Amino acid sequence: MIVKRFTFNILNVNTYVLIDEKTKEAIVIDPGCQSAEERKTFKDYIINNNLEIKRVIDTHLHFDHIYGQRFVEETFGVGAEACKKDITFLNHYQDLLVMFNMPMDDEALPLKGYLVDGDVVEVGSIRLNVLQVPGHSPGGLAFYEEKEHCAFVGDTILEGGIGRTDMHRGNYDTLVNSIKEKLLPLPDDTMLYSGHGEPATLGHEKECNPEIIKIIKS
Ligand SMILES: [Zn+2]
Ligand SMILES: [Zn+2]
Repeated sequence: MIVKRFTFNILNVNTYVLIDEKTKEAIVIDPGCQSAEERKTFKDYIINNNLEIKRVIDTHLHFDHIYGQRFVEETFGVGAEACKKDITFLNHYQDLLVMFNMPMDDEALPLKGYLVDGDVVEVGSIRLNVLQVPGHSPGGLAFYEEKEHCAFVGDTILEGGIGRTDMHRGNYDTLVNSIKEKLLPLPDDTMLYSGHGEPATLGHEKECNPEIIKIIKS
C-alpha cells in the first residue's frame, strides 16, 4: 500500500490517498482540497497515476476535512461515507463556514453511506478496520490497517497533542476513553496518520506526547 499525503486548505488538513499498487485502486480519507489550485493538484495526481477511487471515507465531518468532498464526488463519481453521529456538521456546513470566517463553498452533498465500529473498508488488498473514537467530535472514526501497521486517526491524536474538545459536542473524557480503549492497545510500531501534522508511531507518541503520557498515567 502506498500512502500519499496532501495538506490542504488554510487549516492544513491532511488528505490521504491509500493506493493498492497492483490494482491502482484507491481510498481517499478526508478530502480537504478547497482552492481551485488544490483541487487541480488532487485531480491531476489521481489521473496521472491512473488511480481509480473506490471509496471516500471521513474521520469526522468538521468542515476542514470535507472541503473537497463535493468536488471529489462530482469529479470521480464516488460519494463519501462517515459516522452518522457527525451529520449535524454536514447539514450546517455553510453556516459553519460563515461562523468560522472560512472561504465559502457549495452546500455539502449527503453521505453515500454510514460507517460504524467494526466495519471493514476493503479495497484491493487494503483492509481498514473502522474504530469509533468519539470525543473530538461525536462521530469520530479511526481507520486501522493491521498488516500495514498504520492507523488514520483524524484529530483524535495529533502530533504532540490530542484533538481539541471545546467545539460543538466535543468531550474531553470521551476522547480520553476513545484513545485508551481503541488506540493505545494497538501495537507500538503502528504509524499514526493524523488529520493535521506529521505522522509518528504510537510508540513515539507514548514516549513524547505529553497529552498521551498524561492519559497513560491517569
Ligand atoms: Zn476536527
Ligand atoms: Zn481537523
